[in-house]
Amino acid sequence: MEALRPVTRRTVVGGVAASAASLALPRLARAQSAARIVVVGGGFAGAACARALRQIDPKLGVTLIESNPTYTACPGSNEVIAGLRDIEAQQFGYDRIAASGITVVAQAATKIDAQARNLTLADGTSLTFDRLVLAPGIEVRFDALPGYDEAASRKMPHAWKAGEQTVLLRRQLEAMEDGGVVVLAVPANPMRCPPAPYERASLIAHYLKEKKPRSKVLILDAKDSFAQQKLFENAWKELYGGLIERISISQGGRVTSVDPSTNTIVTEFGDYKADVANVIPPQRAGRIAEIAGATDHTGWCPIDPSTFASKLVPNTHVIGDACLGGGIPKSASAASAQAKACAAAIASLLSGKTPETPRLAGFCYNIVAPDYAFSLAGIYQPKDDIFAEVEAAGTSPVDAPREQRAREAEAARQWFKTITGEAFG
Ligand code: FAD
Repeated sequence: MEALRPVTRRTVVGGVAASAASLALPRLARAQSAARIVVVGGGFAGAACARALRQIDPKLGVTLIESNPTYTACPGSNEVIAGLRDIEAQQFGYDRIAASGITVVAQAATKIDAQARNLTLADGTSLTFDRLVLAPGIEVRFDALPGYDEAASRKMPHAWKAGEQTVLLRRQLEAMEDGGVVVLAVPANPMRCPPAPYERASLIAHYLKEKKPRSKVLILDAKDSFAQQKLFENAWKELYGGLIERISISQGGRVTSVDPSTNTIVTEFGDYKADVANVIPPQRAGRIAEIAGATDHTGWCPIDPSTFASKLVPNTHVIGDACLGGGIPKSASAASAQAKACAAAIASLLSGKTPETPRLAGFCYNIVAPDYAFSLAGIYQPKDDIFAEVEAAGTSPVDAPREQRAREAEAARQWFKTITGEAFG
């Protein structure tokens, strides 16, 4: 993957080095169209939205602001943790996006005044916009679980934002002795990718079964049930015997605090000492959404589901994990679908048309072994002012033969290529 050039106060990626003054008023965009759209966050939601905007109307001046020069994708990162894939396979640069005529700014957005339509970058430069799209993903909460702060995450990784944390968890598993206990702490919803902890537990079990068979995975869960539970539990029985144990919230599985000095995880019913502790804390929308005033008491961003317009601040749309998507699970697949629908809504609004009612397709694969996966699909539309599932588009059968599980594992890899290609390729 090609990384971006080092970011300096004067560097804008897109083949154009621009001064701070030209950043504030992108001349090319203004000459072609009155509309300047700034997208904050170059993940699955933001990158796909920026691209879709340019595809709908190449005259739009689209700027994508992303603080990291390289994006590291979460889907597939559980395979990295299990040693089945390299972290590099998760990484994508922004060169192709820049080459498509989008101005990519490799800096963090630090301040937003939505009313004044003004955004400030980390180096103090300011940008003006006609419409803002916020797609900052999640912030891991370091104030929600006693004992779990940023320092604790370096001992007990969450690995809920892919990158260093993913690699750290992988290294800890490699260093663990055979016979060790890996504890996964799972929070309540809403959270990024609700089925991913169970996929992770499965793939860790795959690694342990092959390399450290006397070890165990213990899931401490703040939920009673989860999506595709029967499929997961069947797979655990079939593939991993007694290697995975889960304690649900009714059985006392909710984690109430952690002690990183002893790698201890405390629940309502007892303490568990982990050899490797993967603590996934509660989450909220990326910090910039709060700074912009777009979050409510839940920590997420309420939106009008027909246009993704913020209900709290003007001139602003919110997509991806950061928004309150109602019945849509927070996933890359949903983020990508929201991105395209939001781009279409913005283009309609700019040309004075009524946006079409979005119909979003969400698709989720769960890989429990290299040749064993199953999936879940849904269709979502606005209903009573939030997104609701209007059609269950299908789930893998509980009693499917192994050949079908293997085909779904292959389809999952294909899905990853397609969705990353659409966003970054
Ligand atoms: P992100 O992908 O997090 O992107 C947000 C971007 O915004 C980041 O690049 C960040 O650097 C940038 N940003 C934030 N703040 C600022 C700022 N102030 N200035 C500039 N840039 C900023 N989903 C699936 O569909 N299928 C799967 O199989 C799947 N597996 C997963 C496995 C795991 C272990 C996890 C944790 C998640 C998984 N997901 C999966 C969920 C998926 O990764 C997320 O739903 C998706 O990444 C959300 O996209 P997003 O664009 O909203 O946020």
